[in-house]
Amino acid sequence: MQILDGKTLGKEIQEEIRLEVEKLSKKPHLAVILVGDNPASKIYVNTKNKTCERLGINSTVITLPENTTEDELKLKIKTLNEDSDVNAILVQLPLPEHINTANCIKEISPIKDVDGFTPENLGAVICGKQPYAYPCTPFGIITLLKRNNIEISGKHAVVIGRSNIVGKPLSLMLLKENATVTMCHSKTKNLKEITKTADILVSATGNRIITKDMVKKDAIVIDVGIIRNKEGKLEGDVYFDEVKEVASYITPVPGGVGPMTIAALMKNTFELFLMQNK
Ligand code: NAP
Repeated sequence: MQILDGKTLGKEIQEEIRLEVEKLSKKPHLAVILVGDNPASKIYVNTKNKTCERLGINSTVITLPENTTEDELKLKIKTLNEDSDVNAILVQLPLPEHINTANCIKEISPIKDVDGFTPENLGAVICGKQPYAYPCTPFGIITLLKRNNIEISGKHAVVIGRSNIVGKPLSLMLLKENATVTMCHSKTKNLKEITKTADILVSATGNRIITKDMVKKDAIVIDVGIIRNKEGKLEGDVYFDEVKEVASYITPVPGGVGPMTIAALMKNTFELFLMQNK
């Protein structure tokens, strides 16, 4: 069994980007909009900001109060779309409940959509075309597989979770890599029978559900879930200690998909900058 070490690979990718950014006279610029006081969101935004600093990427965090209206948020996005100094825009999710997330995301200019969540970019993924940016978590997972020389083509990939930010785009990206893909969700019947047939098993539910008996021998197991347990420690969807006994490769939580997501965000910021400065 081999651990898929996203922490180490994520750092390697960050260093590659840092060296590229060092050569530039003008620097990429990521703008992050944070609405409200969600403590987890504040931590995520802080991590993104610090990572940018380390890589020589300019970053601006725009903090808006909880009672910001949808129109005010859209106006802020419009201002950033028009600001030629900003190359990448990220609206930190979740937004407060009174704001319609999809309505706001679609205001982001697709060429600055660093999360790859706009209809244009997700539409390109559906069509098997190159978007301006791939959604970061799926992009990070595909990179983790490829940089570990794991063959995707011809494999049966089972993806549990069908969110717009992880499960759906990842399934399409695995399909583009010629995997045979099965998507599962909370209404899937006989989940275990399906997961037992997976060569690549991805769990992105936020629930602790994957036990050893659900995993085929030598499967590649990717754990996207982030759950804070009773002791306050982070764990994933997968019972790591027992599943590692049957898997050929497995991602830990923390230190697997999370750091790859950050690396993908930095890569997207850099690539969007290059596209805008051709
Ligand atoms: P989400 O929007 O809540 O979607 C969860 C998906 O899992 C839904 O499709 C749901 O099915 C399915 N599901 C939930 N419980 C299930 C069960 N017991 N059996 C089968 N399917 C089940 O979540 P998300 O935004 O995709 O995130 C998923 C997890 O990944 C969360 O823990 C999140 O924190 C984590 N995450 C991690 C990263 C990272 O960088 N590591 C990035 C993003 C998200 P229905 O559609 O039927 O409800």
